[in-house]
Amino acid sequence: MNKHDSERISGLLEVAGFLPASSSNDADVIIVNTCAVRENAVKRLKGYVRSLGKPKKRGAVIGIAGCVAQIEKERLLKEIPFVDFVFGPDEIDDLLTFVSEAINGRRTVATEFDTHFFASELPSKRETPHHAWLLITKGCDNFCSYCVVPYARGKMVSRKREDIINEAKKLFNDGVLDITLIGQNVNAYGKDIYGKTDFVNLLDEIANIGFRKVSFATSHPADFQDQLIELMASKGNISKQLHLPVQSGSNRVLMRMKRGYTRERYLEIVEKIRKIPNLSLTTDIIVGFPGETDKDFNETIELVEVASFDQVFTFMFSPRPFAEASKYEDQIPEDVKKERFQILTEKVKEVNLKQNLRLVGDALDAIVEGKSKTRGFVQARTETGKVVLFKNGYHKVGEKVKVLIKDAGPHHLVGELIKD
Ligand code: SAH
Ligand code: SF4
Repeated sequence: MNKHDSERISGLLEVAGFLPASSSNDADVIIVNTCAVRENAVKRLKGYVRSLGKPKKRGAVIGIAGCVAQIEKERLLKEIPFVDFVFGPDEIDDLLTFVSEAINGRRTVATEFDTHFFASELPSKRETPHHAWLLITKGCDNFCSYCVVPYARGKMVSRKREDIINEAKKLFNDGVLDITLIGQNVNAYGKDIYGKTDFVNLLDEIANIGFRKVSFATSHPADFQDQLIELMASKGNISKQLHLPVQSGSNRVLMRMKRGYTRERYLEIVEKIRKIPNLSLTTDIIVGFPGETDKDFNETIELVEVASFDQVFTFMFSPRPFAEASKYEDQIPEDVKKERFQILTEKVKEVNLKQNLRLVGDALDAIVEGKSKTRGFVQARTETGKVVLFKNGYHKVGEKVKVLIKDAGPHHLVGELIKD
């Protein structure tokens, strides 16, 4: 979501005639887009902005965008004198006004929610020409007890179906090959308009436009419909990656998290979805949620094994402003959180490696992303979203290649390019 918003922020600046600077030291305008999901990101933001003394002295204007801006509002101006303006996700359209006010020495705080506005309507400067993010919903009504998102992004609003389809067709005609539908909870799409979700139909309609690949994130287990499995299995161009955050393997914890499903229901979905050959199942897990006992934690570890996840994003519970769970009295001490995090990380590595090793010997299609951080390798992504590295001098970003998998680690595959 933040990548999508950042592309709109860059798009607006580009249309107004700004050019990308090579570093913050020679920039005239610096906008920092922010995430408020965990406290660590907020700390890093503040450290980063305080390090911008040099450009500030030269007269650069500095703005803070995104969820931290939305939540902290004028506090950010008070706390960091470098900051000229602060604006929330629904205020991106007024960015150029904030910049010109700042040039004239006026500081702005803009954090109104606007249910009609979708940042997707703004010009976009895409990071990659072959791929685009397509926003289908914004905000969230779920109020999971640990989460700040409903306060930072407002209530869930589904974008008008015809606006989504029109944007998708336009992107397709502009030569975009791969598209990712995004929302906090994509499979709740339409609940606010039609009274029930219409995500599966929407995904089908978009896949029919003719894109090479259609991905989507994030799905919520409580809104999951079996029709999605049938659609994913039947349409070749729908990504075979499902990101389905489980958060915990304990029913007691899931209940206190207000997730709206049980461990059993989650595993029932897993069993059904695993019937799609080579599907990649990824998830998010929080350890150290208030009141989590050793027994609860062990249930999470056991679920990781049973579900055989392909990738897991692991987090230590971080108390967030407004979120109900930050006020719970049974907070877990930091050292216990860290210990559980370590144990989970080891288990996840083991399970991911096992999943990846199953692919050794397979010839997989992948889309080239660019040079890898590992020297001498090119990085591509398989149809199921896995990173695959191969040795080869030649590469073109966005190109589809076939790679014979030779080896695997917990977080990537290694292969050889197959020549046609
Ligand atoms: N809308 C998505 C996720 C949004 S936040 C969903 O519902 O799945 C991304 C992930 O951050 C969450 O899945 C959760 O695992 C993690 N997260 C959210 N709030 C957190 C908190 N307070 N502490 C630790 N992790 C958190
Ligand atoms: Fe946060 Fe839950 Fe909404 Fe995801 S579904 S954004 S975790 S409140």
